[in-house]
Amino acid sequence: MTVALVTGITGQDGSYLADRLTREGVEVHGFAREGATVAGSSLPAAVHVHQVDLRDHARVGSLVAEIAPDEVYNLGGISSVAYSWAHPAETGLVSGIGAVALFEAAHAVQEATGRRVRVVQASSAEIFGTPDRTPQDEGTAIRPTSPYGAAKAYAHQMAGIYRSRGLDVSSCVLYNHESPRRPETFVTRKITAGAARIATDGGGVLALGNLDARRDWGWAPDYVDAMVRAARHTEPDDFVVATGVAHSVEDFVRLAFSAAGIEDWSKHVEIDPRFVRPVDTAVQVGDAARARAVLGWAPTVTFEEIIEKMVENDLEQIHREVAR
Ligand code: NAP
Repeated sequence: MTVALVTGITGQDGSYLADRLTREGVEVHGFAREGATVAGSSLPAAVHVHQVDLRDHARVGSLVAEIAPDEVYNLGGISSVAYSWAHPAETGLVSGIGAVALFEAAHAVQEATGRRVRVVQASSAEIFGTPDRTPQDEGTAIRPTSPYGAAKAYAHQMAGIYRSRGLDVSSCVLYNHESPRRPETFVTRKITAGAARIATDGGGVLALGNLDARRDWGWAPDYVDAMVRAARHTEPDDFVVATGVAHSVEDFVRLAFSAAGIEDWSKHVEIDPRFVRPVDTAVQVGDAARARAVLGWAPTVTFEEIIEKMVENDLEQIHREVAR
């Protein structure tokens, strides 16, 4: 039986990956912080959860040695650019050095057992910072503009270094991906939850930052699928995972309010300078040609459908709360 280890198993992607791997009959081990709440409310009962902070590199190493996984998915870490500005050192320790501790531990298992250990690093489009070309691909210059991007860039480059040491580690350069399991600390879920609330109680205002920022938004389970394909592909590599289509935050707002039944969103949105990032990368859009050609991957859910699913979930949640 395949044994998989997933860091960040309580997060958006970790919880979808846990669902997927347990459905496939894989033995799933997950790393989670003590007291973490699970995105999507609960993990499958079959998952073995190990409590560990990714800054505790010694414990990470001993747990990896004990579990001796066939597949390792490094999804754990600080996932918010805004949080990384407030906690830059923690971001480096968790998302940068934490990833290296995991690669080192996976490499040690491979050396000890003589069996290949396949690793996937959840990298990010933020490694490109203000990109020097659009769309971005695996050859785009890495020049991050935030503590989050810098930590991810370090882990991404160390993935390449461990690959050259013989570890099968692929780095998936993920563009934004969303789902009802996103917390409201992210602008997308803040918008869908806000639109659902305003549509239900008829009032209120949603305070947002830069509406012109453009992002390439995909569906989280599709991005989890790309990571599974990368883990199981014979040749490890870097893979940009993106839809290739950019939309503005304003597009997101308009469609979310429309899905909630409100056509004139402008009466319900105000710009609050507190939510404008210190450095906001202008346009991020990825070219996933390599993932499409080599991994046979393609996104299956459109931008409009993602927003509809998120708003539908938020409306249902409000109706459930009201009915209680
Ligand atoms: P997420 O929901 O924020 O999940 C991150 C997970 O990491 C959470 O389970 C979190 O646990 C855990 N974590 C944070 N600090 C930790 C620590 N010190 N020790 C142990 N665990 C810790 O993020 P996601 O959306 O699933 O994203 C998965 C990965 O993909 C992340 O590495 C993210 O940076 C990357 N990525 C995501 C996107 C996206 O659009 N979603 C785009 C590009 C890259 P707690 O609940 O305890 O905080």
